Amino acid sequence: MDTPADLKRRSFLRAAFSGALVTPGVMSAAEVEKTIAGQFHEEARDLPLVEDADVIVCGAGPAGIAAAITAARASAKVRVFEWRGCLGGVWTAGLLGYLLDFDKPGFNQELLKRLDARGMRRGTSKGSVVYEPEGMKLLLEELFVEAGIKFQLHTRVAAAYREGKRLATTVTESKSGRQAWRAPVFIDTTGDGDLGALAGCAFEYGEAEACPCQPMSLNALLVCRDADALAAFIHKSDPSKADGIAKDAFLAEIKRTEHFPSYSKPTLWQVRDDLLLVMMNHQYGVPCFDAAKITEATVQARAELHKIVNGLRKLGGPWEGLQIAATAEQIGVRDGRRIAGRYTVNKDDLIAGVRYEDAVVRPTFPVDIHALSKEANKTAAYSNAGVKVKPYDVPLRALIARDVDGLMMAGRCISGDFIAHASYRVTGNSVAMGEAAGVTAAIAAATKRLPHEVDWKESAAKLETIRS
Ligand SMILES: Cc1cc2nc3c(=O)[nH]c(=O)nc-3n(C[C@H](O)[C@H](O)[C@H](O)COP(=O)(O)OP(=O)(O)OC[C@H]3O[C@@H](n4cnc5c(N)ncnc54)[C@H](O)[C@@H]3O)c2cc1C
Repeated sequence: MDTPADLKRRSFLRAAFSGALVTPGVMSAAEVEKTIAGQFHEEARDLPLVEDADVIVCGAGPAGIAAAITAARASAKVRVFEWRGCLGGVWTAGLLGYLLDFDKPGFNQELLKRLDARGMRRGTSKGSVVYEPEGMKLLLEELFVEAGIKFQLHTRVAAAYREGKRLATTVTESKSGRQAWRAPVFIDTTGDGDLGALAGCAFEYGEAEACPCQPMSLNALLVCRDADALAAFIHKSDPSKADGIAKDAFLAEIKRTEHFPSYSKPTLWQVRDDLLLVMMNHQYGVPCFDAAKITEATVQARAELHKIVNGLRKLGGPWEGLQIAATAEQIGVRDGRRIAGRYTVNKDDLIAGVRYEDAVVRPTFPVDIHALSKEANKTAAYSNAGVKVKPYDVPLRALIARDVDGLMMAGRCISGDFIAHASYRVTGNSVAMGEAAGVTAAIAAATKRLPHEVDWKESAAKLETIRS
């Protein structure tokens, strides 16, 4: 017979699995698993198999978008799987709104021109810009259709199978059930390195072997009555204009609501007219592969955003009528898995301003490590860990998996250490990495080589023709 303790534990587990248990202190998925006695054996089954692509791109964030479009423009047949209901990753589902290290040639500049043509961009400097996330969704879909890319939203990459060392098949899960897909070359642009991990690649995560990792943040769109009245609190999108003043003024206003935000450099941007974008929370120590903890973090973050906005509205004055229009579909993940590559970008590269013949991008963004704990946030919201960055090269080798053949990475999940990742991860660099992976994957597939057998000079020459 069940004891009361058994019943309590069973109802706890049911709630955890159903996603209903989201109060602070919830067990991680790993802890829940440990509590369960025994294992469930899932039967093997045959899946529908599709083999119609030269290049499969997993994840359609900034890196995946650039990878897919570039591979398609290099004449590859491309398939893309994206878990969320729109293309763009942190740009759209994450409501990022602000582009950094974007003064790079190629797709970065094309995107800026296209945003400008639609009147969807603000921003006063070449290197940093604010855009409309909703308009970005439509633009990216149009670009994919124009490039002839086959893509499936609401589709998660759930398994990967190798033949020897070579990645051969990936399995997706969606409303269509489980489906298998084969291609000669795959690109992991899931940000979190899901495909690489599923394929058996070694990876690093966070500062050491596990968390501490950078905190997550849930961004939101706000509507206000009069953005001009809030000018003193709005980030100016221009590093030369002492933007810290607006952040500090905004923090002082939030403190007037008798709340100290979990991100002590809260930032407001003006997207258009009375539409604002805000980043003002941190969720600490949440691994990107722990669904229960991500759920808990999302719920806490949303509650904090509502608390702050309701508090500001009650202050009245310029805040009168302030409302949340939407919180992001996806809490923003700064730190994911960094898949082991044929080279690992590291702190010393940044300090030395290293140069490589196979450089795919030269990041200039500083090391940006957000506070790793609530306590640390009270003294500093972010730091550069004492590292002064000289513009440095990210080589193609860091985008090619070491342990599995036929697999490339681009964006957050390339091979790098904790410090280097804190600099190169921003979206301008992710786009450039996506282009490099896309063109190299297309050449490899067309010439029946593996990505590591393609010389970067060949990729660079092809990229030049695509861009011209
Ligand atoms: C809160 C926050 C603020 C930031 N601020 C800035 C900023 O101001 N400016 C800036 O330029 N950068 C900023 N960054 C950095 C930015 O996150 C990275 O540059 C960007 O995420 C890298 O792009 P990506 O394509 O590698 O990853 P992502 O944008 O995370 O895209 C990954 C995509 O893969 C999908 N995916 C994940 N797993 C799977 C799966 N198993 N199957 C299918 N699809 C999957 C996701 O849904 C997503 O669409 C910020 C990040 C965060 C979190």
